[in-house]
Amino acid sequence: MWAEISLKGGSAVRFVDSHVHLSHYDGPESVAGFARLTDTLLSAVSIDRNTSIETLSMVKRWPHEVLGFVGVHPSEAGRSPGLEWLPAALEESHGLGEVGLDPGYGPGSPVATQDVVFQRQLALVEGSGKPIQVHSRGAVRRSLDAVESFTLGPVLFHWFEGEELLSEVMDRGIFVSLGPALLRSRKLERIARACDRGLLLTETDGPVTYRQLGGAQGPCLVPSVVFRLAEVLGEGFEETRQMVAENAARYLGPKKG
Ligand SMILES: [Zn+2]
Repeated sequence: MWAEISLKGGSAVRFVDSHVHLSHYDGPESVAGFARLTDTLLSAVSIDRNTSIETLSMVKRWPHEVLGFVGVHPSEAGRSPGLEWLPAALEESHGLGEVGLDPGYGPGSPVATQDVVFQRQLALVEGSGKPIQVHSRGAVRRSLDAVESFTLGPVLFHWFEGEELLSEVMDRGIFVSLGPALLRSRKLERIARACDRGLLLTETDGPVTYRQLGGAQGPCLVPSVVFRLAEVLGEGFEETRQMVAENAARYLGPKKG
């Protein structure tokens, strides 16, 4: 099984940051170094062409620690709607992301444009079986409808907050990831409890900082997320850690190379 495959020197994956913007760090080597020393797997996502290229170069640099996702984020859909570069990048990538919809990005990236760019990207990845990372803030219903209309590999709704549509998301076998906000959010606690445990993942969305956690950020917070998740679920830390690693194995599929 993938979770048992070694990342480095025979060690299995212990922690998983399912969603991190490694290309947004000034010093990604320290993040990759942390991942290596703690057996943490980083699913590195991109927001446009340039960050996709950077993400793929980081996979080459740290092949044991980093899986690369490429794509155009809803915030960038209005700025860089051209996708002629994406098929080749997808070919080289582990999956598609971060893609999706968010009405909060306003006139610079209207939802109608986001929708077109989102669906064109889903069409490009359709049939490949590659995992997909979706940003669905304020647009869970529309995101669900979009992913339903394609034949896709495993889908993750990252930093999931759509409590009212959770059961529908679970029924469709879509993974959801929870991050450091879980440490301070009753709503996310309720979501964690109501989730199908086989569809729960952990993330940090680094380098996003968490004011309520003193400005902390990044993959070093993953063990704290697992700890809080274990408390919320009434399980042991090790049991929860293992559950997330196994879920990640199913979401990410066999790790190549
Ligand atoms: Zn993100």
